[in-house]
Amino acid sequence: MDLTKLRAQFPTLEQTLEGYPLCYLDTAATSQKPQRVMDAMVQYYEKDNANVHRAAHQLSSRATSQYEAVRDTLTRFINAERREEIIFTHGTTEAINMVAYGLTAHIKKGDLILIDTAAHHANIVPWQQLAQRTGAIIKPIPLTSECRLDETAYDALLQDKPAIVALSHVSNALGTLNPVHSLIARAKQAGALTLVDGAQAIAHLAVDVRSIDCDFYVFSAHKMYGPTGVGVLYGRYEILDTLAPMMTGGEMIKSVSFEATEFNILPNRLEAGTPPIAEVIGLGEAIAFIDELPRTETCRVENELICYLQSQLEQLGDIILYGAHQDNVGAVAFNLAGEHHQDVGILLDQQGIAVRCGHHCAMPLMLSLQIKGCCRASVGVYTSKDDIDSFITALTSVKELLL
Ligand code: PLP
Repeated sequence: MDLTKLRAQFPTLEQTLEGYPLCYLDTAATSQKPQRVMDAMVQYYEKDNANVHRAAHQLSSRATSQYEAVRDTLTRFINAERREEIIFTHGTTEAINMVAYGLTAHIKKGDLILIDTAAHHANIVPWQQLAQRTGAIIKPIPLTSECRLDETAYDALLQDKPAIVALSHVSNALGTLNPVHSLIARAKQAGALTLVDGAQAIAHLAVDVRSIDCDFYVFSAHKMYGPTGVGVLYGRYEILDTLAPMMTGGEMIKSVSFEATEFNILPNRLEAGTPPIAEVIGLGEAIAFIDELPRTETCRVENELICYLQSQLEQLGDIILYGAHQDNVGAVAFNLAGEHHQDVGILLDQQGIAVRCGHHCAMPLMLSLQIKGCCRASVGVYTSKDDIDSFITALTSVKELLL
């Protein structure tokens, strides 16, 4: 892999901050976008701009075929069985809300919903809302002292036959990987409906929803080199077809009268209103970009970077690592002993280093770690070993300044 050529595709990376070259270690929050993604979106606006599915004219038909082609691309990309199983949303958050809302009629008082402790708020709050509507009970799946999902506790919780199990594929705050194949198999055996939040996995791992065998898998384009404002809800057809639509209106109907409305079939039934057309086209281009990467090689290189990052942080001293394992995906979480994570982040920024600091939308996880927040360094395909070295040099000077 020629990293120089690859990085040249990302214009944002070619800038200096405070006289330092930008060192972008915040891909887990949002990835940078290759020029071709932006070009594809501009091309749509310049040449093909029209609404989808509606008009008889050529522009609309071009826009529609580009939009629907991305659904086919996604079907192949995550190995869904049918194109109707791919629903375009505005992101992971909306996708989980759609599932939690749509399942309301499936859930009754006293039903159990299991959520992993490391979950992003987007995979907690919609379930809490569902529980409030139905009288269901939420139980967190505890973590081990190594910040792994506690599988013994998980198996014990499954004895209570949960209605829903919602897991993260990869924790956004820590980068820890959940063994979703085996966790989902056990949840299904217990009779639960299953959702996997793949927001942090999709850019780094080859995802096969049929092999994971979950009922729902969700992710956002902006974390996989695509644009903001678009995401994907994958649902196994039989269960997806039973979801009540969270949004109603145009596009999702077959017929409307003042007496009654008949909803459309999937996928339209769950895509009310004008969709984010340019963004979907941008997502299609992001997948084309990923498809051209030597995927096994990029996974290996990213893992090497993560392990290198962990070992450099350990060597630096006065660093507390959270959930740092050899199989972490994309991210490492840490604090400088005794220092506020925000101070560390601001001082790093003054040297051109972009990391994320805070609770990472995972307050229950922070509570279980007994911290208010931490710093997170995360990588993408464009991250180089030099980036990690610059980060460690900058962190060394921050440490000297603060300690
Ligand atoms: N789930 C995880 C694991 C995430 O990392 C994120 C974003 O950081 C989300 C959900 C929410 O994604 P979005 O803000 O794109 O809807």
